[in-house]
Amino acid sequence: MPGINDYVPIVGANVIDELKLLGSLLKGKTVQNINSTSVGGGVAEILNRMIPLMNELGVDARWDLIKGGEKFFNITKKFHNALHGVKTDITSEELEHFKEVNRQNAESIFFNGDIVFVHDPQPIALIEKKNQIGKKWIWRCHIDFSNPDEKLWSFLKGYVENYDVSVFSAPAFARQLSIRQVLLSPSIDPLSDKNKELDENYITSVFERFEIDRNRPVITQISRFDYLKDPIGVIESYKNVKKYVDCQLVLAGGGATDDPEGEKVLSEVREKASGDKDIFILLLPPSSDLEINALQRGSDIILQKSLREGFGLTVAEALWKKKPVIAGAVGGIPLQITHKYSGMLTRTVEGTSYWIKQILNSPEYGKKLGINGYEHIKNNYLLTRHLREYFLMFLSLFNEGDIIHF
Ligand code: UDP
Repeated sequence: MPGINDYVPIVGANVIDELKLLGSLLKGKTVQNINSTSVGGGVAEILNRMIPLMNELGVDARWDLIKGGEKFFNITKKFHNALHGVKTDITSEELEHFKEVNRQNAESIFFNGDIVFVHDPQPIALIEKKNQIGKKWIWRCHIDFSNPDEKLWSFLKGYVENYDVSVFSAPAFARQLSIRQVLLSPSIDPLSDKNKELDENYITSVFERFEIDRNRPVITQISRFDYLKDPIGVIESYKNVKKYVDCQLVLAGGGATDDPEGEKVLSEVREKASGDKDIFILLLPPSSDLEINALQRGSDIILQKSLREGFGLTVAEALWKKKPVIAGAVGGIPLQITHKYSGMLTRTVEGTSYWIKQILNSPEYGKKLGINGYEHIKNNYLLTRHLREYFLMFLSLFNEGDIIHF
């Protein structure tokens, strides 16, 4: 696994020296991350890379998972949808079950962090433990909060306001809160298996293994099978293009253990795609980072046609690989893509089809978009920037009143 010094050629020695200094100021502090899944989705993706580097930099970073049954994760998926503005009914019995599972976890988890760093709504109610054990508590929200269901938000807000600080991914998600809010974007790791440079022969071998023809254009979306990623809209966009250009579509994704809706979405996607041998629906196991990397690198266009999106790590991953990306103009995606400069933003199936055709017809333009996108990701969304901002935030919790410059 790459160490912190391996990032020097990418971001420069000064950046790494500063991280070492900040890490030394946090020496002896324990940061206990808590979320609901270790595989699938952006949170797990980031923690997997962040934790070893934090440890190398002298911060004792740990990671615990909450446990819950099928009922609990069905409820939290409803939360997820409702917070993304999807009309959803959540009963008071479901809220009670949610609280009860959080209470059980609060009893079974050993809280050993000086900072308890809670990710997303699933474990949010662990904060009830703060009265008893003290410590500094951070709630990090990774989801699109631009239009949350107000009833659910007021329920969650009761918990959020007991934290010391809340963290959101984009300015549009900031809420009226009585506690401090930090705006802090996620990041990708340029040296992970998901993002590192790959040998061209390996890329070819992955395409051969999945029987995708590299001599014809390939359009790819990598995502969990989730309605909010709009896989059906992706197939419709592709079908419009297919009338004019002989292209192929890859929809690749696995599940997340805290997302019980995936199978239903997948079967709808399969039905919509049936009969077209140029649509490849790939169900990937969790250990598929190299394959995803190869699919992204070997594709002509990457789509992320989300209807809601917290940040959209897949966009950053594709731009890092200098790919032209067409993505929904939602959540954190416009932070990453300036329309017609570093990618294309879209709101409709028709718009998506239009931009796919444009880019397939002018590959040089697509290349330019990818290069601009790469520069933007390099300057703003690599994990070294993320680590720095986390460290400054941790320090601010122990030095209240001091001025911290982000
Ligand atoms: N991902 C993966 N396997 C899959 C689907 C997605 O490894 O089958 C990764 C993807 O490459 C990205 C993350 O999971 O790193 C998804 O993060 P994103 O912010 O795009 O969406 P989320 O799933 O968190 O809503």
